[in-house]
Amino acid sequence: MNRRYRKTVIAGNWKMNMTASETKQFAEELKKIMPRAKWCDTLLCVPSCNITTAMKAFKDLRLSVGAENLHYEKSGAYTGEVSASMLKDLGVKYVIVGHSERRQYFCETDQIVNKKVHAALNADISPIICVGESLEQRESGVTEDLIALQVKSALYGVPADKLRRCIIAYEPIWAIGTGKTATAEQAGEVCSLIRAIIRNLYGARVARSVTIQYGGSMNPSNAAELLAQPDIDGGLIGGASLKPEQFVAIINAANQE
Ligand code: PEP
Repeated sequence: MNRRYRKTVIAGNWKMNMTASETKQFAEELKKIMPRAKWCDTLLCVPSCNITTAMKAFKDLRLSVGAENLHYEKSGAYTGEVSASMLKDLGVKYVIVGHSERRQYFCETDQIVNKKVHAALNADISPIICVGESLEQRESGVTEDLIALQVKSALYGVPADKLRRCIIAYEPIWAIGTGKTATAEQAGEVCSLIRAIIRNLYGARVARSVTIQYGGSMNPSNAAELLAQPDIDGGLIGGASLKPEQFVAIINAANQE
């Protein structure tokens, strides 16, 4: 983390978990243990049908509510989809874009990810842009090239003043939901690479202001070590964000002065 230049952000990703009633119950449990997170921003990305419930339930918790996905078109015949303006109207400030599960199961390409990034930014919503390699890609030595391609494609056409609103999440696919975490060095190395790519595209000043998260089985026992890496400015947390005490333990690891 480097708080001098950028925000530390701890974000949960609930994926397709939690009903509205479970969301309220989660908030009740969280209220008992949630710290005053002075040194980091905290948010939970929830299924779109639970956004309003979560906004009400988390109101007193200093916990922003984010979305997990959006469509890039403004409106129209896209049954089942949700637009940026719909999210904006609900008060959403963050949206996950390009999560590996969406790339894998819903055929989201780098071009689609780029359109979604623009749609979010045009609605003043901060995209949390996920990039990451599979185990096969890592083992065949293409991690750096792949990450560069994903980052450059996602940011294509994004001006520097809007880049400051973007968060990049490095999420090695082989570490998501598997219990396998990248070592702090592996994660730190790729996050530094992402910052170097941004530096080449936008210059050093912009690059040092961008929040870069790590995601992939982050939990209370590995969070502090991962967050100690200079280019890791927070976490995108799946499984552990479903358990109030684990989510809070990760927030506490980030909330050190
Ligand atoms: C994720 O879904 O973005 C994620 C990192 O999941 P997990 O923490 O469960 O690996």
